[in-house]
Amino acid sequence: MKEKNRIYLSPPHMSGKEGLKIEEAFKSNWIAPLGPLVNEFEQMVANYAGVKKGAALSSGTAAIHLALKLIGVQKGDVVFCSTLTFVASANPILYEQAVPVFIDSERETWNMCPLALEKAFVETKRLGKRPRAVIVVHLYGQSAKMDEIIALCEAYDVPIIEDAAESLGAMYKGRKSGSMGRFGVYSFNGNKIMTTSGGGMLVSDDEAAIERCHFLASQARERAMHYEHQEVGYNYRMSNLLAGVGIAQMDVLDERVQQKRRIFQRYHDALSDVEGIHFMPEYQETKSNRWLTTLTIDRDTQISPVEIIDLLEEEQIEARRVWKPLHRQPLFHDCPFYTAATGIPASELLFETGLCLPSGTSMTEAEQERVIDTLHGALHKKACTSIKAART
Ligand SMILES: *Cc1c(COP(=O)(O)O)cnc(C)c1O
Repeated sequence: MKEKNRIYLSPPHMSGKEGLKIEEAFKSNWIAPLGPLVNEFEQMVANYAGVKKGAALSSGTAAIHLALKLIGVQKGDVVFCSTLTFVASANPILYEQAVPVFIDSERETWNMCPLALEKAFVETKRLGKRPRAVIVVHLYGQSAKMDEIIALCEAYDVPIIEDAAESLGAMYKGRKSGSMGRFGVYSFNGNKIMTTSGGGMLVSDDEAAIERCHFLASQARERAMHYEHQEVGYNYRMSNLLAGVGIAQMDVLDERVQQKRRIFQRYHDALSDVEGIHFMPEYQETKSNRWLTTLTIDRDTQISPVEIIDLLEEEQIEARRVWKPLHRQPLFHDCPFYTAATGIPASELLFETGLCLPSGTSMTEAEQERVIDTLHGALHKKACTSIKAART
């Protein structure tokens, strides 16, 4: 039998023009960090987001780290952060020896719950403290409830860092995801909707801050004829070669959003009437980039996300669970956590019941059918055995 080719969760998808841009960099010998392609890429992404400036960096994590530095977060400062996210959202808080405080999700967007955020603000104030920054994540391409979150952060006068690593190309009420906070963060890691193999960007309307970001990202070298340094710096800049890849990827970004949304739609059409399955909602007046198609499986359904992942794996199909909430990670075991839920926090329920399906834009329709058939098989097989079990 012919070996089935493996279907990955979200592999890189090149436009085909990346090579030309890399060649351009080679021909001009702009291989080293900095160079014309970096500037071009930064302006391209900033224009796309609808903000003034961008700083191309070595990763999204580096962008979050420098956003915290630019805001002035210091040792012992409190930083609020969405709990349902990848660890990279919060690791930079620890780099600065600041204190992460995690905020639960709500069910309509899976993102930061404004009620839990308000609770955290009130309680932190009662303790005589004020957070220095709020990191809001737009999970799997779905924007958080930014109107409510912005209103609260303005009332408490705390700047927002939007972790838009997964939501490049998504829209919130006519605005681009990542353009609404003081800083926006994008990632171009290999699994993201567009990639430079590895990389990230910090964007902002604050031109002086982005200029300082460039300074901090290149070892904080002062203007002088010799090497002069007054403060600690980082080697965080993106290379000119990779910026070339990014420019070519930007050409197909909107097409990728459309493809991701079509992939979601096909899963949705094929599976939405299966009992106990709920797809990640798309919140009113938002447009998700559907980076990953995600769904939940009710807890009283006969099959769990873990069992489904195993069954898909047998068919050479890669699926994953939803992120484990950071407040449940051993790394953050002593960090405060706020929820508005009276029972199980929303983020914990989403973790227990959530499933991410293969969503690569290079996946063919036939491959997606294979995923859907396997899922149907898994859900059906389980339903039959449970009927049998009920009869005997
Ligand atoms: C991928 C990701 C990051 C980190 O981006 P890197 O470029 O891999 O450092 C941060 N936050 C979230 C939510 C992510 O998914």
